[in-house]
Amino acid sequence: MLSADQLLDALLERARPLAAAATVPVANTLGRVLAAPLISTITVPPADNSAMDGYAVRAADVPAPGATLPVSQRILAGAVGESLRPGTAARIFTGAPVPAGADAVLMQEDCSGAGDEVVVNAMPRAGENIRRAGEDIAAGAEVLAAGTRIGAAEMGLAASVGAAGLPVFRRLKVACFFTGDELVTPGTPLRPGQIYNSNRYTLSGLVQGLGCELIDLGIVPDTLEATEAALEGAASVADVVVTSGGVSVGEADYVKAAVEKLGRVEMWKVAMKPGKPLVYGRVNDTDFIGLPGNPVSAFVTFCLFVRPFLLKRMGASDVLYRAFTVPAGFTWAKPGTRREFLRARLQRDGRLALFPNQSSGVLTSCAWADGLVDVAIGQTVAPGDFVRFIPFSELLA
Ligand code: AMP
Ligand code: MG
Repeated sequence: MLSADQLLDALLERARPLAAAATVPVANTLGRVLAAPLISTITVPPADNSAMDGYAVRAADVPAPGATLPVSQRILAGAVGESLRPGTAARIFTGAPVPAGADAVLMQEDCSGAGDEVVVNAMPRAGENIRRAGEDIAAGAEVLAAGTRIGAAEMGLAASVGAAGLPVFRRLKVACFFTGDELVTPGTPLRPGQIYNSNRYTLSGLVQGLGCELIDLGIVPDTLEATEAALEGAASVADVVVTSGGVSVGEADYVKAAVEKLGRVEMWKVAMKPGKPLVYGRVNDTDFIGLPGNPVSAFVTFCLFVRPFLLKRMGASDVLYRAFTVPAGFTWAKPGTRREFLRARLQRDGRLALFPNQSSGVLTSCAWADGLVDVAIGQTVAPGDFVRFIPFSELLA
């Protein structure tokens, strides 16, 4: 059986980044992956400008606090002033270009008097309250690297250098289906023996949260024929197929057999809890990842393995989550024989609490938690011990 680290390495080795890209208006790039570096053709800010509402002066013109200077011009944001006449002040507003000859801006709170004269109540320091041309971005600088996932800040940054469109990879197509004769779609009452297909919603949210195009193929009955047909259809339309259920060794588990029949299985089973049964394979050019059916197992294995795999397939360069060292506020006294990922919440005292029921069927634990505690084989934990914690902020989206 593979360790979780071995499985992740093997998956990332097999994840071939997309090649096709197109230019998309910046406003439509949220969640997309940049296909080429963005190089600025301009300097940001373009000119020295005022960080405050106040008065632009030459510091040497203010001999002592209380000095009075004539106000020789008014410069609003969007306007360009004239060179500062020696011995005068320019009324200036935030974002307005600092006039040539001025080397400081006094904030208006440090000045008094209005109209034609200003009394300067503080000594200006040369350079004070001036935002320098190029202090954010120099012309020719790389603003965003290829492989960057575009979020709100990246969209704004691209616009700040005047980019109208960005080259982004096409969206990765991910088809999902959910195996199980017991599954019912919400909206229909349950009959005895049935449960709702919660994985459909969990995985839809996870796949769409990454910016992939979701192809939802619904519930598939527990027969080899139906599983094969679903897999064949999914593989013909998607870059990656992700399923839940049917990957153990039960009598109604046909997923692995279907992948073996239509393509090949390359990895099976990972030594961790939750989530031991997990299949990776290929059907023609399409990747296949079969997740376990237990709702917590499907969620956790998606976060730890499928997410980095999909991100790399999408062309993203930063695909691995970060883990942090956080003090435990709980006791974990039963050393396991598999690595465990426990659902935990960060408390106000800075310590972690565990959800009381760590069963792989209890999805409430995932909604309650802030992340996963990574417990090594044989590890026990006492309150105050430091543990490895992976926040959901690193695993979702
Ligand atoms: P399996 O991996 O198919 O053996 O399923 C393991 C457990 O997960 C069983 O209790 C199933 O009923 C449950 N399960 C499987 N698929 C789903 C699903 N789509 N939504 C909720 N529970 C599921
Ligand atoms: Mg099943």
